[in-house]
Amino acid sequence: MEKFEIKKFIPDEVYESSLRPSNFEGYIGQEAIKKNLNVFIQAAKKRGESLDHTLFSGPAGLGKTTLANIIASEMGASIKTTAAPMIEKSGDLAAILTNLSQGDVLFIDEIHRLSPAIEEILYSAMEDFRLDIIIGSGPAAQTIKIDLPQFTLIGATTRAGMLSNPLRDRFGMQFRLEFYSDEELALIIQKAAIKLDKECEKAASLQIAKRSRSTPRIALRLLKRVRDFAEVNDEASISEARAVQALNSLGVNELGFDTMDLRYLELLTAAKRRPIGLASIAAALSEDENTIEDVIEPYLLANGYIERTAKGRIASLKSYEILKLGYEKGLFD
Ligand code: ADP
Repeated sequence: MEKFEIKKFIPDEVYESSLRPSNFEGYIGQEAIKKNLNVFIQAAKKRGESLDHTLFSGPAGLGKTTLANIIASEMGASIKTTAAPMIEKSGDLAAILTNLSQGDVLFIDEIHRLSPAIEEILYSAMEDFRLDIIIGSGPAAQTIKIDLPQFTLIGATTRAGMLSNPLRDRFGMQFRLEFYSDEELALIIQKAAIKLDKECEKAASLQIAKRSRSTPRIALRLLKRVRDFAEVNDEASISEARAVQALNSLGVNELGFDTMDLRYLELLTAAKRRPIGLASIAAALSEDENTIEDVIEPYLLANGYIERTAKGRIASLKSYEILKLGYEKGLFD
């Protein structure tokens, strides 16, 4: 029997970072953001200052972390990366801040999840590059002030609305990332395919793009799976036919909806315009609320498949149409 040797195991995240563009030229789309950032970076460099604190918001997988890394590299700065859930105590944040060097970029992902006490420490750090820490409590409490080097805080959030106003106001620059067009995604796919040592025909990249929910992270994930199908069939390049066959086998439909999207829409359409709350949806789909709000819903909302009301979520006419469902007369009046 033929023996297979596993040469190396490379998890998806490692692939993801190896596919990350390292400069603005490699970063496709988001033209307005790139143009503005370029001006601000050049200006800061000319003045010999660090870049203003910057906030990126937008759904998961649209390129916020990638932009933060590009900024650091364009500024010739090093980047320290963390995520809000990892900063539990004020000491955690103090340790991060006091370890920064002049000009460093500090990237905090999911910044809307910082606790109010931690946020408060961040205010003076952002504004005056100073750390105010209170030690002890009651009349014996003492405030210690530590000077910090000038640094740039880059925050990323999938929920700009959940950020407190004082924190949001301390970001000198705020950018909202947009979903990508199919052409932009196709370009990202083709560039990534070259890095993965596999050619991808333009028509094939467009097929993958169309089913990627306008999101680079999904496009790259699908590319890797499609590449597996091509490899198993000993094909040097990915053809359109192979892409379509592979995507169908993966259960990704022509609109880019996977099984979770379809289950979500089936649940909402079954309710016949009766709003369903987030907690009920999460329970019915056995999925956590954050994933539903951050991963599943933004694309459906942006494309008019669902509506969000104070009472809950409702499927729009478009959802009934793509699921080929009939509906009673008057349901949409
Ligand atoms: P986010 O931080 O918004 O969740 P990431 O920056 O981690 O998203 O991006 C996810 C993946 O998509 C990364 O592998 C990155 O290389 C790729 N990517 C995102 N945006 C772009 C882009 N504009 N051009 C090229 N690749 C991109």
